[in-house]
Amino acid sequence: MPKAVLSVDFDSARNAMVEDQIKHRGIFDKAVLRALLQVPRHLFVEPEFLSRAYSDSALPIKEKQTISQPYIVALMTQSAMLKADHRVLEIGTGSAYQAAVLAEIVKEVYTIEIVESLAQTARDRLRKLKYKNVTVRHGDGYLGWQEKSPFDAILITAAAPKIPQLLIDQLKVGGRMVLPLGESRGSQDLMVLTKLKDGSLKEEFIAAVLFVPMTGEIRQ
Ligand code: SAH
Repeated sequence: MPKAVLSVDFDSARNAMVEDQIKHRGIFDKAVLRALLQVPRHLFVEPEFLSRAYSDSALPIKEKQTISQPYIVALMTQSAMLKADHRVLEIGTGSAYQAAVLAEIVKEVYTIEIVESLAQTARDRLRKLKYKNVTVRHGDGYLGWQEKSPFDAILITAAAPKIPQLLIDQLKVGGRMVLPLGESRGSQDLMVLTKLKDGSLKEEFIAAVLFVPMTGEIRQ
C-alpha cells in the first residue's frame, strides 16, 4: 500500500481514539488532548500490533513489558497538571510513548528505564521522531535523577509496592507524583501525591489500574 494512504489511515484512527476513548471519559485538558492527537502511537508499538495501535488497550512490547492503554496515559498526564515550563521525570520508559506525550506538553522530560535494550530502543525512536527535549537514562528509577532535580512532576508507569521516598525528595514543593500504588498481583490504586510545604503528602485516589511491576531496589 502507498505510504501516504497508510498515514492517512493512522491519522483518522488517532482522531477516533481521542474522540471515542479519551474525551468521553473525562479528559478535558486541552494540552493533553492535543498531545494525544500529535504523537504517532503506531510508531511506538511492535510491528505485529500495528493494526491495534489506536485500540483501547495496553499492548505487549519487548522484554515482557507493555505500552499503556491510551486512556491511562491521558489520565496520568492530566492528573499531573502540567504547564509548558515544567521539568518532568518519568520512571519506566518502556516504548517511550508516555515520554513523547509529556514532551509535547512540557519543556524538559527525563525518563529512566531499567531494561537496557528498551532504553536504547526508546532513545533511537525519540531521536528519529525528533523529540529533542527528552533524555533517556538506563538505570533503576527508584534512585531518581538527583542532578536534574527538583522536578515539577514525577510519573511512575510501573506498579510500586510503596511510596518511593527518594523520589518524593526530588519533587518540588507543590509538585505532583502520579503512580500506580500497590502489589503487582491484581490491580493497583492510581494515586496523585502532592508535596506540601511541610514536606507531607496530600494523597488522592484516581482509579484502579493494572501495571507491570516496578522492579529493582524498591523490592528489597
Ligand atoms: N511508560 C511506558 C510503559 C511502561 S511499562 C510506555 O509509555 O510505553 C513499565 C516499564 O517500567 C517497563 O519498561 C519496565 O522495564 C520499567 N521499569 C520497571 N521497574 C523499573 C525501575 N525500577 N526503574 C526504571 N524502569 C522500570
